[in-house]
Amino acid sequence: MSKATALRDFYLNEKALTDGMKLLKVKIFENDVDLNDKKITNVIGTNLIINLSSKLSPNSSIKLSIDWEFKIPEVSTIRFGSYDSTSMFVAYWYPQIAVYDDVDGWDRIDYAGTLEMYNDFNDYDVEFTVPSGFQVWATGDWQNADEILNQKYLDRYNLAWQSEKVINIITKDDLALNDIYKTKIGSQSIKFIANNIPDFAFGISDHYLWDAVSFEVDKTSGRRVYCAAAYRQTSPEFVDVAFYAKESLKYFSFEIPGVPYPYPSATVFNGAGGMEFPMIVNNGREVTKAGTVHLTSHELTHQYFPFYIGTNERKYPFMDEGLAVMLPFDFQERTAEGYKPRERYVKAYEDFAGNEYDLPLMIPSPIISYRSYRTSGYNKPALAYDFLRKTLGDKLFFKAMQTYMARWNGKHPLPTDFFFTFNEVAGKDLGWYWKPWFYNFSYPDLSVTKIKSKNNSIKIQIKNIGGLPLPVKLQVMLDGEIIKEVNKTAEIWESGKETIEVNIDGIKKYDAVILGDKAIPDVNSVDNIHFK
Ligand SMILES: [Zn+2]
Repeated sequence: MSKATALRDFYLNEKALTDGMKLLKVKIFENDVDLNDKKITNVIGTNLIINLSSKLSPNSSIKLSIDWEFKIPEVSTIRFGSYDSTSMFVAYWYPQIAVYDDVDGWDRIDYAGTLEMYNDFNDYDVEFTVPSGFQVWATGDWQNADEILNQKYLDRYNLAWQSEKVINIITKDDLALNDIYKTKIGSQSIKFIANNIPDFAFGISDHYLWDAVSFEVDKTSGRRVYCAAAYRQTSPEFVDVAFYAKESLKYFSFEIPGVPYPYPSATVFNGAGGMEFPMIVNNGREVTKAGTVHLTSHELTHQYFPFYIGTNERKYPFMDEGLAVMLPFDFQERTAEGYKPRERYVKAYEDFAGNEYDLPLMIPSPIISYRSYRTSGYNKPALAYDFLRKTLGDKLFFKAMQTYMARWNGKHPLPTDFFFTFNEVAGKDLGWYWKPWFYNFSYPDLSVTKIKSKNNSIKIQIKNIGGLPLPVKLQVMLDGEIIKEVNKTAEIWESGKETIEVNIDGIKKYDAVILGDKAIPDVNSVDNIHFK
C-alpha cells in the first residue's frame, strides 16, 4: 500500500505508510518488461496488470522473475511492522500473483482495508540474511538450525520437537550470556522452505524470548507438530502461549473440527493486534487469561480457514472469520474458566443486529463499511454456524465439516459449496436455514405472543418477528422459581412459518413464561416475558 493508494476505511498511523513495494525489474521468461510502457503495464489500485505479448492458454505456464524492494514500516500497522528498533513482523511484503478462478476470472479486488487474503497455493524457498544475534521465525520448515544455533540451544530446539512439556529455548538469562548463535560478528543466513501454502510471513528480533513444545498428531506415522511462541519480556502472559497453541491445535486435530493439523509447525509471534499467516501468527499481548486463550486459538483456527481451505476472504470473510470465531468456542470455555465466548458474540451481534448496518452476509466485503464488516465477517456468521451445530447435532455437523474440508482443501470454495456439502451430508435441503442467515435482511427478534392453558399443559405461541431461525429457550415461572425449562434448536423454524407453538405438559399453575437466553440474540426482549 503506498501513500497515494492508501485505500482504507479505518485509522492508520501516518508513520505506518511507506512507499510500499517497489518493483525494480520484472522479467517474463528472459525478457525485461518495460514498467513505464503504459501499453504493457497498468497500475490500478494495488494491482499491477501486465499485458502479455502472447496469450496464455489454460494448462500452460510462463516464468516470471521479479526484483523488488520493500521498506518495513517503522511503527506497527494493523497487521505487521516494527515493535521496537530491532523487532518486527513482516507480511504483505512480496509481489503476489492474483488468483484466477472460474467464477470471477482474475481477482482484481484491491488489497486494502479489511480485505485480507485470497491466494493460490505455492512453494516457498526463502533465505534471510540477518545480522548475527537475530533470530527469524517464519512460515515453513527451518532448514539450518544446526548451522545457526550453538549446541546448547540446538539441543533445546530439537528437544522441543519431541517434548509435550514446553521447552524454554531462549530465556532472559540466555540473552544476557550472548552465546546463542554460532556467528558472533557479521551476518547469518536463516533458511525456510514451505510447500503448498498460500502465503509467507516472518518475525525477527534480537531480544525475544522463545518457547516451544510439540505433540503427536498422527499415531501411525508418528508425525509431530511443533508449536512455538516468540515474545517480548514485557509480555508476561506469553509464557503460556506455546502451551495454549499446542492445546488449540490438539483440539482442532482430535475434536473440533477433528481434522489433523496439516502443517509441521505453528508459531505465535508477539507483535500487535491479531493476524494470521500460514504457520505463523502475529499477536499482541492480552492481559487476561481469557484474552490470551481466545486470541491464540482464534488466530490458529485460521490455519484451516482460509489457508488449508482456500476461501476468498476478500469477498466472503464469514467463510473463515466466522468459523475462526465459532470452532474454538468449547476450547476457550473450558481452558479459560468463567469465559463465555458465546455470550460475548451474542452481545457483540446484538449491538448492530437489525439496524441498517446489519447486512446480508452474502454482500461481498469490498462494498461494505468497517462498521458492517465485524457483524458480517465475525459476529453473525459465528452464531449462524454454532446454532446450526446444535440444530444438526455434533455428529452430523462435524461429518459435514470434515466432508467440506476434505473436498476443498487446496481449492477455492464459494459459500454455496459449503451450503451444498452440508445439504448433501445432512440428506436434506437446509435452504430454510441458509436463506435467512446468509441471504436475507433477517435479524434476531422472537416474541411470546400468546399462551393457552388446557388441563395440565400450556401451549406457548412464539412469533419470529425478525425472521432468523434461532434456538428457543422457555422458562416457566411460579412464585419466582423456574419450574420447567424447555430448549428447542433452530429446527423448530424449519417449516418457514412465522409463528410456531410449543407445548409444555405437567404445568398445573404458573405465573409467567420467559423466552430467551444470554446465549441467544434478541434485539427486543421486552416482548419475551408473558405473564398469566
Ligand atoms: Zn480472524
